Amino acid sequence: MTDLRTGVREDFAEIFGREPDGVWSAPGRVNLIGEHTDYNLGFVLPFAINRRTVAAVGVRDDRILRVGSTFSDELVEVPLEELGPGTLSGWSAYPLGVAWALGEFGADLEAVPGVDILIDSNVPVGAGLSSSAAIESAVALALDEIWRLGFDRRTLARVGQRAENVAVGAPTGIMDQSASLLGEPDAAVFLDCRSLDSEIVPLGLEEAGLQIVIIDTGVTHAHSTGGYASRRASCEEGARVLGVEALRDVSVADLDRARELLDDVTFRRVRHVVTEDQRVLDTVRTLREHGPTAIGELLDASHVSMRDDFEISVPELDLAVETAQANGALGARMTGGGFGGAAIALAPADAVSRIMVAIDGAFAEHGFGQPDVFTVTASQGAVRES
Ligand code: ADP
Ligand code: MG
Repeated sequence: MTDLRTGVREDFAEIFGREPDGVWSAPGRVNLIGEHTDYNLGFVLPFAINRRTVAAVGVRDDRILRVGSTFSDELVEVPLEELGPGTLSGWSAYPLGVAWALGEFGADLEAVPGVDILIDSNVPVGAGLSSSAAIESAVALALDEIWRLGFDRRTLARVGQRAENVAVGAPTGIMDQSASLLGEPDAAVFLDCRSLDSEIVPLGLEEAGLQIVIIDTGVTHAHSTGGYASRRASCEEGARVLGVEALRDVSVADLDRARELLDDVTFRRVRHVVTEDQRVLDTVRTLREHGPTAIGELLDASHVSMRDDFEISVPELDLAVETAQANGALGARMTGGGFGGAAIALAPADAVSRIMVAIDGAFAEHGFGQPDVFTVTASQGAVRES
């Protein structure tokens, strides 16, 4: 982290010929439990991870926004007057989209100076750890402070989401930005996706001697976009037939009635969302009452529900989960939207290396590509670094 912070300062000076006014950082995130519940206005429980994106920012004496990233060779320049979703594309739509979205939330962009922004990161891109929220949140916090806007973090999360939805054009919920901006060390962010209320829930992993293992399968499924859309459509259909605004309003006790009213596929999609919401609530309660060693079964049940009812797992994810479980993990599940991406396992620290070796072996045995397996810790949300 120190390296990333120092490095971005030095690179900024080299590229822009002066020192930045400050360096801000924001983490990626992983979702502990609560999948496909966000757009059903239910509950999620992500945490910020110890992989971060840093943004060095310096004020200019004109009205130009310039952004660079170690990720790319190009330096993108846009006059503040021309900032708009239509003028942005590629990776720079994330940071510049945030600048635009701040205006949508009431910032007077006619009264602010131009800035130079340089981005660096150690959040893996496209691994389901939300490098997108990390870049949005780092830039949102930086511009909020540089431009003296005074937005609270919940609003900055919505700014990041707006940038991603409109400037980038990706239909994502509010979970990732909330985790990146609100996360705290060794704690998860319990988020109600209807009210957007959030609560910090201590994880206590360190004290319990537990670690979180990420297994990035490297699989990106060609059908993930269509699969996501069709799952959303099933959820909307289920809510419509059951006469509720969103599946959040259906409880586990309502499922018997739902079975009579819905076709089999829609019923199973609904059952996943309804039981997953309940599992998030149960996980929060269990963490508070019994600590993290007691949540393994809930993680396992979440995976089964996604595999069998929501049908968004793939063989690589199932193998990662089963191998972790068979080698000492207390619980494991795929995380993220599905059709590829990563799984997480909750494991005693002394089982982690065995799990890693076993997963490597199992993937090789099945002829699957080598997965990227590493541990993460629950970390601080976005901060000003210097
Ligand atoms: P994920 O959020 O799962 O990592 P996304 O597709 O949502 O994947 O976001 C990844 C995109 O975000 C990248 O393709 C790039 O456009 C942008 N991005 C993320 N990190 C950086 C970075 N450090 N520099 C520039 N662009 C970045
Ligand atoms: Mg993303």
